[in-house]
Amino acid sequence: MITREFIERVPKTDLHLHLDGSIRLGTLIELASQYNVDLPATTESGLREKVFKDNYESLKDYLKGFAYTVPVLQSEVALHRVAYELARDCQAEGNRYIEVRFAPQLHMHRHLNAENVLKAVHKGLDKAKQEFNSSDEVKSGDEPPFDYGIIVCALRMFKAGFSEHYGDLWRVHRHSDPHRIYSMASMELARAAVQIRDRYGLPIVGFDLAGEEAGFPAADHTEAFAYVHKHFMNKTVHAGEAYGPESIFQAITDLHADRIGHAYFLYRDDMIEAGEIEDPQAYTEALVEYIADRRITLEICLTSNMQTIPALRKLEDHTLTRMLTQRQSTTFCTDNRTVSNTTVTDEILKATEALDLSPQDLRNSIIYGFKRSFFPDTYNKKRSYVRQIIDYYDKIEREFEMSDK
Ligand SMILES: [Zn+2]
Repeated sequence: MITREFIERVPKTDLHLHLDGSIRLGTLIELASQYNVDLPATTESGLREKVFKDNYESLKDYLKGFAYTVPVLQSEVALHRVAYELARDCQAEGNRYIEVRFAPQLHMHRHLNAENVLKAVHKGLDKAKQEFNSSDEVKSGDEPPFDYGIIVCALRMFKAGFSEHYGDLWRVHRHSDPHRIYSMASMELARAAVQIRDRYGLPIVGFDLAGEEAGFPAADHTEAFAYVHKHFMNKTVHAGEAYGPESIFQAITDLHADRIGHAYFLYRDDMIEAGEIEDPQAYTEALVEYIADRRITLEICLTSNMQTIPALRKLEDHTLTRMLTQRQSTTFCTDNRTVSNTTVTDEILKATEALDLSPQDLRNSIIYGFKRSFFPDTYNKKRSYVRQIIDYYDKIEREFEMSDK
């Protein structure tokens, strides 16, 4: 039996975790009052009722919350606070390694550049890391330490109203093709991410592509991803959340994705649009095999998928079951702790209950999370960290009599 208590005790990762979707509601209310941002409710329960719900009508409905979180995150103080609190919340449920992602350009304006934004988030996360790692258990080596990486997100599409920075881009390039503007924004972010990582030694470990998938192809971002690829930065791409296998194929071939966010429609050869692909079934099978063999890790966000994919009515129908049968490398993630009202523990518990997850499946998935993380240190350090995590996991399993090891 996999219990909540057991899940909370084992070391976990969260590799797909959006900063702006994971702000504490109390903090959102405080910051909104401080920065004069109007909220539809000023109590946590009011916000849960009106914006940050358990069930959403559509992806559009799901995304409404970001219209309130992004405007309060326009200062270094706010970014630092939210990053710090997020890391503390993750630590409190036993997550030992997280990768926090966000789109820096959503927080940039005339008084706040990419360096300021990234440094503020890094310092908030680092403060939480230092606090956690100063405990006797971690210092003595009895417990593995906490660590983190930062992933920057380019957006598949953005509108002028998304942020002052994006508004400026639209204004100065108002005669350009929108796809050129998306491409330019991504390229600028790619250069910024590499330069800031190298100049200040910040743990900027990955580059991501987020935002609306339908109608906004990966092709606009090939130059930016080629740039980060050539500068030894890891890549993860939101794909297969609204589109089928071709979108996942593009993420891997055109954008060099090391991991895929969601990949929900991985097996849906019927979603392939007529065109160059002669045999959709063979194409999909080859893609599935390639992903499995190369250990391209799929970042699974069950609650988020339930909330944004209308066709998915019950968790029992989630493709994770098939991914596990096919021995894909998968890892449990929250996507947005506040918007999805979830935690890694909740995600795993749901999988255990609805998908009949075995202790071995759970162990594999958790260890893949650590192994396939974009750990911000040398390969040798990563290996010894993973070793420490596995030993600790085994110890908890013995304590709960989950294994005969
Ligand atoms: Zn996401």
